Amino acid sequence: MLGRGVLSRLHTLTQQETLTLTLYLDIDQNKPANRKHGYLVQAEALLKDLKATHGSDRRLADASRRALDLVGKLRPNGRSALVVVNTALKLAELHELQLPIAVSAHWRTGAFLRPIVEAMDEHERYGVVLTSTERARLFTVDMGEIVEHEDLVSDTASRSRALGADQWRSQKRHDRRHDEAVALHAKRVIDALHDLVLHRPFDRLVVAGTPKATAQLTRLLPRRLQGKLVRSFTMSMTATPKEVLDGVLKLQQRMEREQEAQLVEGLEAELHDGGKAVAGVGPVLDAVNQGRVWKLFYGKGATVEGGECGSCGAYSPHAKGPCVYCGDEVTPVAQCLDRLSQSVMDMAGQVEVVDGPAAKRLAKHGSIAALLRY
Ligand SMILES: [Zn+2]
Repeated sequence: MLGRGVLSRLHTLTQQETLTLTLYLDIDQNKPANRKHGYLVQAEALLKDLKATHGSDRRLADASRRALDLVGKLRPNGRSALVVVNTALKLAELHELQLPIAVSAHWRTGAFLRPIVEAMDEHERYGVVLTSTERARLFTVDMGEIVEHEDLVSDTASRSRALGADQWRSQKRHDRRHDEAVALHAKRVIDALHDLVLHRPFDRLVVAGTPKATAQLTRLLPRRLQGKLVRSFTMSMTATPKEVLDGVLKLQQRMEREQEAQLVEGLEAELHDGGKAVAGVGPVLDAVNQGRVWKLFYGKGATVEGGECGSCGAYSPHAKGPCVYCGDEVTPVAQCLDRLSQSVMDMAGQVEVVDGPAAKRLAKHGSIAALLRY
């Protein structure tokens, strides 16, 4: 797994005069276009664009060859790949990530690691407990990867059925002992969760397993863990880590969609005369030019065309013609949404890319909108 340790090493190594090549590739094998080395075609196209931008540079050509070499040898099992090459430093590494990261290529001083750092910051870490009344398995999910930590088994002998009416008294005692043992098991699980959160901190807790055990555990959770609890669901005790991960990712996706829907609703409430939001390409570009954007919204996969003034740097909704601010010539902006996002983040604003129902709602407003600072 690509951890912060690897990132900080790459960052430190490449802070030199010599330029570093950074590539982000989509290698997700669930996408037909990426099978049969489709991602290699993607890498070649990115490097060709980079060459077109930077002219013929022997070092870039060497680095590109080395990068393609690494990509060609890849047996992908992640969703995206980071390639960092600096031939002067004899540095050439490929790391896979279990997260989608926008495809891009960079030739600059220092490896371009911001996309991953941002993904790490945004990614919430999950603690997962899969529990029955006698067994509990503990997991953590971070950056789309799952780790199983502990398998805890308590001696809570199963409830046996009474054979005759004369045994009801002993059965009752047995039941009580069983309930106590089950409660004790839940307390052991909570202790284990406390240990886990100390060693592998997590932001959210998911309780899964058999209905009776999950209900009891969530009831007994101390306040600090209760505050992290997002949901509980029923799941087989023998689920594979992959199945547990899929359950968590599905849950996470649903929560993100809900959150996005709320954000777009809040945005719509401000879309009126005198409100603190604007929608559509023209008004949003104006707001970016004026440094007023607090939060930029766009629908996933949306495309926006616009221009940039060569002398004052202002964005304009037309790709050609005179700049509305200074009258100078405007030129088309490649990957306009990426550039806009960057400008907004440079001004300490935020960017929300929405998907699903929220994207459909945003489409009614031209798929791009912004909440304003003032
Ligand atoms: Zn201008």
